[in-house]
Amino acid sequence: MLEIVVIWFRRDMRLNDHIALSKAVTYAKKHQYRLFAFYHLDPYFTKMELDLNHEHFFQNVAYFVKKARDSHLYVHLFHEDIISAFQQVMDVYDIKAVFFNEDEVGIGKKRDDHVTDYLEDKGIHVSKWQDTHLHGAKEVLKADGSHYQVFTPYYQSWRKQEKSPVIKVDHAFLGGEHVVCDEALSQQGDKQLRDIMKSCSRRFDQIGEDHAKKTLQSFIQKRMRDYHDNRDIPSVFGTSKLSRFLKTGTISIRTIFHAVSDEALFEDEGRETFIKELAWRDFYHMIYAHFPEMKEKEINSAFRGMKWNADEALFEAWCKGETGFPLVDAGMRQLNEEGWMHNRLRMITASFLTKDYLIDWRKGEAYFAKKLVDYDEASNIGGFQWAASVGTDAVPYFRIFNPITQSKRFDPSGEYIRRYVPELKHVNDDWIHEPSKMPLDEQTKSGCVLGDTYPFPTVDHQLRRKEAITLFEKEKQS
Ligand SMILES: Cc1cc2nc3c(=O)[nH]c(=O)nc-3n(C[C@H](O)[C@H](O)[C@H](O)COP(=O)(O)OP(=O)(O)OC[C@H]3O[C@@H](n4cnc5c(N)ncnc54)[C@H](O)[C@@H]3O)c2cc1C
Repeated sequence: MLEIVVIWFRRDMRLNDHIALSKAVTYAKKHQYRLFAFYHLDPYFTKMELDLNHEHFFQNVAYFVKKARDSHLYVHLFHEDIISAFQQVMDVYDIKAVFFNEDEVGIGKKRDDHVTDYLEDKGIHVSKWQDTHLHGAKEVLKADGSHYQVFTPYYQSWRKQEKSPVIKVDHAFLGGEHVVCDEALSQQGDKQLRDIMKSCSRRFDQIGEDHAKKTLQSFIQKRMRDYHDNRDIPSVFGTSKLSRFLKTGTISIRTIFHAVSDEALFEDEGRETFIKELAWRDFYHMIYAHFPEMKEKEINSAFRGMKWNADEALFEAWCKGETGFPLVDAGMRQLNEEGWMHNRLRMITASFLTKDYLIDWRKGEAYFAKKLVDYDEASNIGGFQWAASVGTDAVPYFRIFNPITQSKRFDPSGEYIRRYVPELKHVNDDWIHEPSKMPLDEQTKSGCVLGDTYPFPTVDHQLRRKEAITLFEKEKQS
């Protein structure tokens, strides 16, 4: 049997700055084994109803597989359960080692642990690497070895620690006799992916490694300098929009960090603020690794028995962006249209759901999970628990975002609102944040009739604010 080293790709769909690929190539070269590229389409995900998140993800898989095959790395696709997939390879080849970038959290971690046990039982060498984050879950710890629960001290320690350099991959090795290309083994997986692609309702064009690199360059050249000032204004294209590429691993976090750090700037505020955001990503990932039950349970145990509002009509209004609060509606509609939402809006909409509607944060988390093309379990759960005041280092429950004040402050001219809520397009600046206050003649003039074209506010914010505080206080004392 031909002796092979498996490189198992997952949410790291690139051929550059890739630790597991680089190590697998070195290992294969040293022992004169062939390289076998492996991708597993997990039935857990393929059986789910397709929505923006998964459509985007699978389109990235298709793009990556094609690109890799064109660059002489034949990526084999498998579909059934993961153990059967490895068994199929073992029926034909002698697997000497399996290399991959590991998942430290969520169902990916469970799968990795399960597969590692199985392969090691068979005497196969398993080599796992921390590649997805600048610092893995166990790398930034307090002096006593425990983990941080508050961001600021975590960040101070994180910032001081040396970051891994960009990892070189020996591309000359990819191709020819070094690499296995067994089309028959990939047939079923290929068919599965073709079927998924046919079912996709929309096509994303911002995918793949080249797009990721261009996005990074354009951010550094055009937006990083003013990032500190612009990142909070949703009408301005002021952030990096790199999250979708980080989600699929079409760009490495090290490449981003070093490109940003190496750039000579006379003004450092934008860069430092941006780097701090990258640390938030590591922070939530670290927190999730230490609280693996946080997808279901509030980290703050004082708030685990909250009696959330089960009103389905309100939840639907939130999902559709029909709450009657223009900025909230604009955010939700951006999410539904683009699969991405500005960070300020993620905070406002999550706060609105949990404090104004008093609806369970888990329902919001699950809705974002379906829609966000950059869906990241750790950041999304972290963000929702933060907004709902039930997480670690969360916003205090008595500091509740006022959706009107936020609107006036972060979208003063209503430009963002008008972009996503066409019913309000011709509403005058005076009423754009609170159209329900618009006199009747203004409503007719602007073509926006309350209760007809655009909803009245579905709740009274001041009333709900008081109710939320009472609810949280009661829960805290119980
Ligand atoms: C309720 C809620 C849910 C969220 N869900 C997700 C999610 O599923 N996936 C996700 O990547 N981010 C999530 N975030 C964080 C943040 O909103 C997005 O990372 C950001 O909007 C992505 O756009 P960008 O790449 O232009 O960000 P930039 O402002 O350019 O930031 C650069 C990178 O830093 C990281 N980052 C920035 N802010 C945060 C943050 N608050 N927490 C963690 N990482 C951050 C992201 O990787 C981002 O790509 C959520 C925030 C909230 C409040």
